[in-house]
Amino acid sequence: MRLKTLHEIILVGAPHAVPAGTRTSNSKGSFLAWSSSQWSSSFCHKCALTLALFCALCVLPMLAQPPANSAKSLQIYFIDVEGGQATLFVTPEGQSLLIDTGWPGNNNRDADRIVAAAHDAGITKIDFVLITHYHDDHVGGAPQLAAKIPVGTFIDHGENRETSDAITQKDWLAYKQLLATGKYKRIIAKPGDILPIQGIRVEVISSDGALIEKALPRAGQPNPACANSAPPLADKTENPRSLGTLSTFGKLKILDLGDLTAEKEHELMCPLNKIGTVDIYIASHHGFNQSGSAVLVHAVTPRVAIVDNGARKGGSPSALDIIRSSPNLAALWQLHFSEEAGPAHNTAAEFIANPSGSDPANYLKLTANREDAFAIFNSRTKQSQNYVAAH
Ligand SMILES: [Zn+2]
Repeated sequence: MRLKTLHEIILVGAPHAVPAGTRTSNSKGSFLAWSSSQWSSSFCHKCALTLALFCALCVLPMLAQPPANSAKSLQIYFIDVEGGQATLFVTPEGQSLLIDTGWPGNNNRDADRIVAAAHDAGITKIDFVLITHYHDDHVGGAPQLAAKIPVGTFIDHGENRETSDAITQKDWLAYKQLLATGKYKRIIAKPGDILPIQGIRVEVISSDGALIEKALPRAGQPNPACANSAPPLADKTENPRSLGTLSTFGKLKILDLGDLTAEKEHELMCPLNKIGTVDIYIASHHGFNQSGSAVLVHAVTPRVAIVDNGARKGGSPSALDIIRSSPNLAALWQLHFSEEAGPAHNTAAEFIANPSGSDPANYLKLTANREDAFAIFNSRTKQSQNYVAAH
């Protein structure tokens, strides 16, 4: 786990010192791992003190670099909820935003995983829970979660618009019942709103089918990918109603559009790109091919993309191919190996939290500073890769 040893801080603490995508290991031994008996048998006390001072002098300049993993960092946990979404942001000020709550049922599986991530991040309350839309894999886990950890405010897009679907309606009613307890604040967000979260600027891009009308600052360029793209057919479900956000932390931009579908991407990105460029793209709709079209992905040119797919949900071959062919991409990360995509379309094994045939609920964790550096940690391999934003 992060923040446990100085060794880890040293290894991931100087992201500028390594090129983008450089792997660092935190699983090998170091001087800190020596036992006290090794110390006493190998060194006299004076030698030990001298060595300790020397080590401290070595460490100080490294810690002076922008830290990728410290109290001043933004942490984002990509929690494995088996093809649903549960993404936990924790700001340096200790404020937290959870985007979606995973599935219901399964003996509290997803709620337990979210609470475990919250505790790993050092928080005992979730300040804001944002529900992108009312599908089972996004809002379904809300009642179980609220029973396990205090929640401050729920944020959503308003009424359920897919009342014809029995499961969606059931989840919506359970969520409404939760709100009706009076224990929580509620924000119904509209495009252009800035959410009241300290330490990170979270702007609403899409909500209840509406999109930002004007391009964001420094965006609005013509989008060449539109030339080869006709507007896709409208999706009639809750997906295009998704509450999508662009989060800004220092110089870093993080895009999460929930399960927003391709026709809304076209409206948002053609003929002009209203979003501009981003550093981190949380792949829309778990990497299903109804979303994540080239008009979006190839125009926002992410440095890294993270797909919250399951083994058999999301991770469509064509959607993964679009991400991998994005012009500025340094790495594609996935929560699971996608069985549908097979070896030809999945990312390399080291970028996958849960490979084929095993499911110990490994997570991915992004740690970012306010400059342009961030790292992604794979809880399976215990390794981090460092990136420098290109924008
Ligand atoms: Zn979904």
